[in-house]
Amino acid sequence: MNYNQRNPIFSFRLSDYRKSKLDKLAKLDKTSANEVARKIIDKYLANELIEKTEDLDKEMIKLRIEKLKNEIEYQKLKINYMKNFDKPMSASATRILKPQIITSGNATGAVINASDATIAETISPYDEKNNRIQCVECGSLYHWKDRDEFLQQKYEFELHMTNKHNRAMSYLEKTVLDDLSFSGAST
Ligand SMILES: [Zn+2]
Repeated sequence: MNYNQRNPIFSFRLSDYRKSKLDKLAKLDKTSANEVARKIIDKYLANELIEKTEDLDKEMIKLRIEKLKNEIEYQKLKINYMKNFDKPMSASATRILKPQIITSGNATGAVINASDATIAETISPYDEKNNRIQCVECGSLYHWKDRDEFLQQKYEFELHMTNKHNRAMSYLEKTVLDDLSFSGAST
């Protein structure tokens, strides 16, 4: 194998724009554009240059936008209901609607680290299965045996939001509680 066979010459065309970039790099390196191009190819073949992969940040932003879209869609539905029926959506309708929105978010992995405020806006505090109220932020439970206790516990829940979480009830929490009427003891 002679020198030419061991070190073959390559020849290819580049755009003028690329060439001027190579010229700039060559100037910085005090070498030729040809030499810079050779080094780049050499590095790439030696696995020292890595091809650009899908930007993770971009992916995160896409998911956040998807999540916001779902939340906006949900708010729109609630507002439209308000406009059409002149009253807030019932707790039962909210409960039926909400999981669809949340699930569609999860299906695309869009619900990531929902803030406490988002949780309070999207998850009902009423646990229908056990007929009790549960704080969606800390899990505190509110049970009742009779109507008096039921009314007392609704009030306690509101106080809990103010005292423990320093906030007023979210629109959803308020709607659910307003709509919730006594239907027997908690289980
Ligand atoms: Zn709590």
